[in-house]
Amino acid sequence: MIVFDLTCDSGHRFEGWFGSSDDYAGQRGRGLVSCPQCGSCAVVKAPMAPAVPRKGNSQPAAMPALPTRQPMARGPMPPEVAEALGKLAEAQARALQDSRWVGDAFAEQTRAMHYGERDPETIHGQASLEEAQALFEEGIPVAPLPFPVAPPDELN
Ligand SMILES: [Zn+2]
Repeated sequence: MIVFDLTCDSGHRFEGWFGSSDDYAGQRGRGLVSCPQCGSCAVVKAPMAPAVPRKGNSQPAAMPALPTRQPMARGPMPPEVAEALGKLAEAQARALQDSRWVGDAFAEQTRAMHYGERDPETIHGQASLEEAQALFEEGIPVAPLPFPVAPPDELN
């Protein structure tokens, strides 16, 4: 299945699920794709806000690269860098204050919220590169955290 963000000629935005791009084109050509709000069949794909086209490739979106290796520097860290990192770490901690740790269930829970299968809340956890990539390709907004987060049960 593939999901497209669609928009009608009155500017209503909605999601459409199709077996493939060809399936979408076929259904649209036969006037089977219509706006759920006004019934208009003048439907086009809405511009995808966060997606970045991959160069020389028809794939619709590219996952931002996640670091697999840690950049390192030899010698003492300049104080302004240490201070900036400290502030960023504090900002992340504040942002996560009201967020619930879900551990390895992150991808599953994020997906359930995106598709309205459960009430939305702020969560954080961990995802494999494959899971993060899959979420991104489904158009589900997630972002890697700048600093690693220790699971609450490992803090004590
Ligand atoms: Zn409409």
